Amino acid sequence: MREHYDVIIAGTGPAGIFAALEFIKRAPGLKVLMVEKGKDITQRRCPMMVREVSCSACPVCAILSGWGGAGAFSDGKLSLTKDIGGYLNEYMEEGKLNELIEYVDRIYIDFGAPEKVYGDGRPEIEQLRQYISKEDLILIPSRVRHIGTERCRELLTRIREFVNEKVDILFQERVSRIISKNGRVRGVKLSDGKTISSDYVIVAPGRVGAQWLERQARRLGLTLLNNPVDIGVRVEVPASVMEPLTSVMYEPKLVYYSKTFDDRVRTFCVNPYGEVVKEYIKGLWTVNGHSYAEHRTENTNFALLVSTYFTEPFKEPIAYGRYIARLANFLGKGVIVQRLGDLRAGRRSTPERIKKSIITPTLKDAMPGDLSFVLPYRYLQDILEMLEAMDRVMPGINSRHTLLYGVEVKFYSMRLKLTEDFETEIKGLYAIGDGAGITRGLIQASVSGVVAARAILGSRE
Ligand SMILES: Cc1cc2nc3c(=O)[nH]c(=O)nc-3n(C[C@H](O)[C@H](O)[C@H](O)COP(=O)(O)OP(=O)(O)OC[C@H]3O[C@@H](n4cnc5c(N)ncnc54)[C@H](O)[C@@H]3O)c2cc1C
Repeated sequence: MREHYDVIIAGTGPAGIFAALEFIKRAPGLKVLMVEKGKDITQRRCPMMVREVSCSACPVCAILSGWGGAGAFSDGKLSLTKDIGGYLNEYMEEGKLNELIEYVDRIYIDFGAPEKVYGDGRPEIEQLRQYISKEDLILIPSRVRHIGTERCRELLTRIREFVNEKVDILFQERVSRIISKNGRVRGVKLSDGKTISSDYVIVAPGRVGAQWLERQARRLGLTLLNNPVDIGVRVEVPASVMEPLTSVMYEPKLVYYSKTFDDRVRTFCVNPYGEVVKEYIKGLWTVNGHSYAEHRTENTNFALLVSTYFTEPFKEPIAYGRYIARLANFLGKGVIVQRLGDLRAGRRSTPERIKKSIITPTLKDAMPGDLSFVLPYRYLQDILEMLEAMDRVMPGINSRHTLLYGVEVKFYSMRLKLTEDFETEIKGLYAIGDGAGITRGLIQASVSGVVAARAILGSRE
């Protein structure tokens, strides 16, 4: 390892990886160091997967950290639509963003993503959009390439093999401090106490490193902007109920503005024939969903999320979301599952009542309970209204058998004040990906890496 690098990249998730790929392609002689607190892709093993035990709360989570970042065990749904997966449309014009999405998508294909794209310009989608709008629902046409959880890991392994020896990589080491002097970045300090200098630093710590980045930003006097918090439930229904949409679009994105509160409620991460899974984030259990390329269940699951932007004086959306998730964990010892019929009847679900459901829960260790003790009235009302609206398009969604798992919370990082190239208020320090609060999906995180790398190369000329 050198004492000085041209660029140091903190984090080897999609954002950091795509920055590195861009450097390798356009400036092969550049000295780049990647620092990753997790393990290399082949060593990433979660005890839950290996021994089927419950989460051991490892100091560094193998699911979220390591080569490939949070994307490594993800479902690998590449959203190719500019309005989905982040806020990059606020930093560049539409045409440029579309070009960059195409550019990174091509790289994913080159490393093994399937050619097939779902929801690609078919007339049925326009017909569906018009039909659905009569029920107060907005359908956002989206194009999705589905890698699938198993293939995601193989793809990331291929990229890892490609970058090997073209950049230096330090695993199981974290950047503990960003060093700056006179308004310019100078390098980083690592958790083992070593200091490495560099001309540029790109921080790409993902959601798992967002709190660390926030602390660094406060210490460095950088401006932080609030992002929303998304709170809701994961809904599980028989796959046939969702077929009218999922047979046409792989990832139907529906938006609904609730009558009572005028809140924005949206579907998120639809998993046709998929499984509901638990997710452990910094001491809290929340819920998520997966679908596999090779393995199918009889159910489809999706999240219904309500977005809230808090206004002055409240500035802690992440703490609020954690509070709600903690309440569910407190009452249910983890994730709670409830039949929609029980929720509407004002009673908790019990194991016996869940057994009477025509839907077999795919998440086996969720605790039957009562979500009305967890979610504020506002969120529950928003969710129930959206289920009613969806039921008019897909009869069966609002059935008493429908299963609701709670809670699903999306903590978006505080957003740093950035230029259009994602440079912070400190010269030479770039912040990208989910950790910088500007993206929330694989494709936009990857695009942010390309943009930062190109900006650095441009400023060196
Ligand atoms: C279960 C799950 C399923 C998902 N499914 C999808 C999907 O299907 N489609 C989609 O588009 N998106 C999906 N996502 C979201 C997607 O994975 C993220 O948007 C994406 O990975 C963000 O990329 P990133 O590089 O910004 O951050 P990350 O992928 O989170 O990577 C950040 C990396 O930085 C490392 N790091 C953090 N702090 C430090 C530090 N101080 N020093 C060194 N290293 C550090 C972390 O260990 C991590 O490896 C999913 C996420 C999860 C958790």
